[in-house]
Amino acid sequence: MEPSILSQTQSICPVCRKRIPARYRKEGSKVYFEKECKEHGDFRTLFWRDAQLFEEWPALSVHADQVKGKPARRGCPYDCGLCEEHEGASCTAVLEVTFRCNMNCPICFADTGKINQWEPDQAGVRRMLEAVWKTSGNCSIQFSGGEPTVREDLEDLLRMGKEMGFSHIQVNTNGLKLSQDPDYAARLKNAGADLIYLQFDGTDDAVYQAIRGRDLFEVKCRAIEHCAKAGLGVLLVPVVTPGVNDGKLGEIVDFAKKHMPAVKGIHFQPVSYFGRFPDQCPPDEARMGLGDLMQELERQTGGEMRLSDMVSRKRSDSHCSFSSVYYLDEEGQLRAITKENRREDAPCEPGTNFPEKANQFTNEYWRMPKEQGKSRSRTAMGAFLRRLREYTLSVTGMGFQDVWNVDLARLRGCCVHVVTPDGNLTPLCAFHLTDAKGGHLYQVDLDGRLVCLQEEKDCGECE
Ligand code: SF4
Ligand code: SF4
Ligand SMILES: [Zn+2]
Repeated sequence: MEPSILSQTQSICPVCRKRIPARYRKEGSKVYFEKECKEHGDFRTLFWRDAQLFEEWPALSVHADQVKGKPARRGCPYDCGLCEEHEGASCTAVLEVTFRCNMNCPICFADTGKINQWEPDQAGVRRMLEAVWKTSGNCSIQFSGGEPTVREDLEDLLRMGKEMGFSHIQVNTNGLKLSQDPDYAARLKNAGADLIYLQFDGTDDAVYQAIRGRDLFEVKCRAIEHCAKAGLGVLLVPVVTPGVNDGKLGEIVDFAKKHMPAVKGIHFQPVSYFGRFPDQCPPDEARMGLGDLMQELERQTGGEMRLSDMVSRKRSDSHCSFSSVYYLDEEGQLRAITKENRREDAPCEPGTNFPEKANQFTNEYWRMPKEQGKSRSRTAMGAFLRRLREYTLSVTGMGFQDVWNVDLARLRGCCVHVVTPDGNLTPLCAFHLTDAKGGHLYQVDLDGRLVCLQEEKDCGECE
């Protein structure tokens, strides 16, 4: 292997979507993901800006007992559902309970209006939850969309999930309805919502104008205020877009600190190029890798958060995500709970129950304590422990893959799965993947069945 090649893998061609060889290559101080299709040429996209960090970050890609999926017939990534080659059991199962939305953002994962024009009824949602339980047991559930709050029966769906035994259910929302109806947060909480997964791109309206096409900062603040009143925890979820809000990560952390303990964490998502995005390989300046994000967090918080606090997560490929947890002390400083152990990170033992492990994390860090604010303890230690429980902030990130950088090894280890009404589970990055012309690899037909749109003759290696 040439010295500049850091590792080899497989990907797909952005044009014909055939499986092709790919690799991570060091160029100067940067790491690029490159691949070539015999028919459509070479493709190259910036992965991380710091090759040293890439090399130091643990390269783990096998995580769990093999999923007992359906037979692999055409090979990854054409057998989703999950297939027997898949290595990551669900840590989060995403149920798109509607395709409808009350906004029309320029950036949208779900690409509403183009695909997935189905909306499961309650029996359909029950079947989806049953499929998750059967495959992954009690993993975290996310009701998503579209915009799930446009469903009048969302509270019924939450109750259903709880009755079936799921211990963590979060609602992925733009916050519009939560901001408009002061009682809605309490109703969601009473019905079983454990967390609001709130789209939150920044602390000023210029950011929302650029990413969502309208002023929204006030809406987000009001939604958080209503959740705080209802005792419903909030996870801020910024999509980090170079040139728009990549310089505002420190401000988002400051905002989160000011709104604790209702704000339980921040989940940063560097923008990826699918959905409603243009169809060319993004230039370097349009890319922010997960490594770049971690370094920017250290820089923009003036070292309050450090790279050494950030650890790779064991339940997905180590280049998919990072995790860190902090305690906010009385002086308003974040103190890391996770520390200096990323090199010791190792794949979990065979037999590890991943869904349960993931749920331990969400239950511990993403939920508002029941008696929050009512400090009963008279001892200094008791008060400290209470504050420690209430004032933890989890800061995590996930670098979603697009057709330019999709790494099939990462995809096989994916633990974030979209559930379709026919009971199939598909890695989120495969489910939303679009090729250079905007064509989807997967689609859900009008009967709720998951369909791979790649023709049989075009599956497999590019020859
Ligand atoms: S991503 Fe997983 S489920 Fe899909 S084809 Fe690859 S191994 Fe199978
Ligand atoms: S959703 Fe994408 S980035 Fe996240 S774990 Fe799965 S493959 Fe990795
Ligand atoms: Zn090709």
